[in-house]
Amino acid sequence: MQEVIAHLVKLQSMDSRIAEINSVVSNTPSQMQAIKDRLDKAVSGHKAIGSALETNKKEYLQLEKELNERKELFANSQKKLMTVQNNKEYQSVLREQDNLKKTIDDSDKTLKEMLSANYGYESELATITELKDGLELELSGVTSEKREEDKELHAELEVLVNERAEQATKISKVQLSKYDRIRGYRKNIAVAKVKDEVCNGCYMHLPPQLYVDVKKDASIYSCPYCQRILYYQEEEVVSTEE
Ligand SMILES: [Zn+2]
Repeated sequence: MQEVIAHLVKLQSMDSRIAEINSVVSNTPSQMQAIKDRLDKAVSGHKAIGSALETNKKEYLQLEKELNERKELFANSQKKLMTVQNNKEYQSVLREQDNLKKTIDDSDKTLKEMLSANYGYESELATITELKDGLELELSGVTSEKREEDKELHAELEVLVNERAEQATKISKVQLSKYDRIRGYRKNIAVAKVKDEVCNGCYMHLPPQLYVDVKKDASIYSCPYCQRILYYQEEEVVSTEE
């Protein structure tokens, strides 16, 4: 491989790694925001269920109190029944008891329903508490993990940027500006390997003569479709492309 091509291939691998690091680092805030958003939802859900449970418990106690008062009234009217003087009074106490009995039955039924709702709220609360705790743990784990990863990547980036600048000095200004220009409009890839007559930058089939020329490696050739600088590498060599 010509020296200039080898320099460009190396420069490309550095630029690809730099772009990869930048993409990982810039994705960190949105990854953490996604967990934060889920946590916020769990926290507000937890609050809503907690407050519904609280309200239900309060209303239950209130109704229970009223029920006990009515039961007391019923017991009193039972005593009254034994002291009534005439039939009219007797009928009146019975009517009163009928009404009380009905209200007592209704309250009993409502209390049972509220108790079952309570169990429902408690189980929902347990589930969402678990979810919330899990997300809090995940967030703190990811935060420290990302902090560590970002630190390593920043260190690698710092070294790479210097090495890249050094590598760029090995290439002529004309070649370098051509390389940078192609990289600018071809998704950061300016140098493409040719394999089986195909440009591995755009995956178009190259004209046979061009393929032969690239293989001969006598000059610098560009892909007629994507304009990337082409190079050929023997199969047994471990590839840095793809
Ligand atoms: Zn191409």
